[in-house]
Amino acid sequence: MAETNDESTKQATGETCPVCGVTILGDEVRFSSGSPGTRARLYARVCQYAQDRGCINKDPSQIGQVSQEDGYTEGEDVKLSGG
Ligand SMILES: [Zn+2]
Repeated sequence: MAETNDESTKQATGETCPVCGVTILGDEVRFSSGSPGTRARLYARVCQYAQDRGCINKDPSQIGQVSQEDGYTEGEDVKLSGG
């Protein structure tokens, strides 16, 4: 009986966020759907909402600059009450 388990042994080294379920390959992030993005995008859309320490994408030095385009912005101003 030979073990021919070559289904996914040749995948690039990546990490999967156990909280968000998103795979991070280097600086590229593979979402479950849609085109690949960046750590910043992943953070802006998913990880910043993850209230769990298990999230692997919470390190600002790795995430880098999060731009407006990375999030789901719709030109909505957030106004603080008072004033
Ligand atoms: Zn995460």
